[in-house]
Amino acid sequence: MEDLNPFHIANQQFARAARHVPAHDALLESLARPERIIQIEFPAKMDNGSIKMFTGFRVQHNNARGPFKGGVRYHTSVTLDEVLALSSWMTWKTAVVDVPFGGAKGGVVCDGKRLSVDEKRAITRRFVTQLGPSIGPMVDVPAPDVYTDAATMAWFYDTYDMMHKGQNNLPVVTGKPLELGGSHGRATATARGCIFCVEEAIGRGLIDGVRSLAGTRVVVQGFGNAGSYAAMFAHQAGARVIAVSDSSAAIMAAGGMDADQLIAHKERTGSVAGFPGSSPIPPAELLELECDVLIPAALENQITEANAARIRAKLVAEAANGPTTPAADTVLHQRGIPVIPDILANAGGVTVSYYEWVQNIQDEQWDPETVDAKLRRKMVRAFHSVFDIAADKRLEPRTAAYVLAVDRVARVTEMRGIWP
Ligand code: NAD
Repeated sequence: MEDLNPFHIANQQFARAARHVPAHDALLESLARPERIIQIEFPAKMDNGSIKMFTGFRVQHNNARGPFKGGVRYHTSVTLDEVLALSSWMTWKTAVVDVPFGGAKGGVVCDGKRLSVDEKRAITRRFVTQLGPSIGPMVDVPAPDVYTDAATMAWFYDTYDMMHKGQNNLPVVTGKPLELGGSHGRATATARGCIFCVEEAIGRGLIDGVRSLAGTRVVVQGFGNAGSYAAMFAHQAGARVIAVSDSSAAIMAAGGMDADQLIAHKERTGSVAGFPGSSPIPPAELLELECDVLIPAALENQITEANAARIRAKLVAEAANGPTTPAADTVLHQRGIPVIPDILANAGGVTVSYYEWVQNIQDEQWDPETVDAKLRRKMVRAFHSVFDIAADKRLEPRTAAYVLAVDRVARVTEMRGIWP
């Protein structure tokens, strides 16, 4: 049986790349380890008046290149090993796109989808309070992830601000609402960056016979922040979004679906199910549909040893973190299916988070065109840096992205030296 523990997977990915990085073993070993693991047990009041205990994690993996940075997830499947993996992926992601942050991740074990607004706010406030000085604008800067959003970040900020009066606390979290120090383009950034990567991949000739996104068949698994906007940008570029799924349903329409209408349908009904003109399909089949671009945008371990041989996409672009296992990577590579790895494909989110942080520090608000142009430049540069290494060293793109990232973090660590 394949080992699907995300932390073990992150370690395997690191090990595959480490042998191509010219750094000494002790330094590489230090980069594989998280710097700090925080586990918090805390109470919150539920709507029915009961008090419930929750477990929250914050793992601060590495801050050699800048403050720790990474999202916070509210999901029943959150475990320490998942947060460990996600925190290290943040370190490599910020290094791949070369933004001056390190890597961290947080999570609370709870049913983020079913909590009421009041319950979610209570959990957030208590979690932030107990995190105390472990987060801060120059220390560790959280952001949204699965089942957290701009509203959650507003409570994060407000709680931190109540505890630190008299200073500019806006940069303590990113992904905030626009009216509260958020950035234009942050909500759509992960998807935008992913689609920029797909366009560059097409431009580089990675999909045989395809010259532009227009007319391509796109499949999206997960229809939240990353997935719905990825479908929207693909649709706007003239692609046919032929199938999508969320946690309750998978649907298909061979002629393509209007992503804007689908987003409105999901907002209205709570699911993609029943979208006019579509038919339901078994969720497991969605990943195996014949298409040009497959965008996993839900959770980890979706493309595994068990289904990798049946993937019929010509390109996989990982909007989600960790959707493909190392065994599946090998199978896809052997089958000539390129994978744009998560630490590159979904790095648009943290890139615009960095722009939000800079705007907060400088007390500025950039217009949407400025953010978009800066994001495009960053993503295009990162994409070609990764695929140049992949071509030069004959590596899978994920390993190439790791080589770029680990080398960058290793160099900075060497420069800084050990203190005290
Ligand atoms: P979200 O909460 O907005 O959306 C998650 C979506 O996944 C929902 O539509 C949910 O219904 C769907 N989903 C859950 N389980 C599913 C399943 N088994 N099959 C199909 N769909 C399922 O979360 P998000 O922010 O869009 O995050 C999605 C992925 O993207 C995660 O891996 C996350 O770490 C990654 N990511 C997000 C950002 C960001 O800026 N939000 C940045 C980088 C990476």
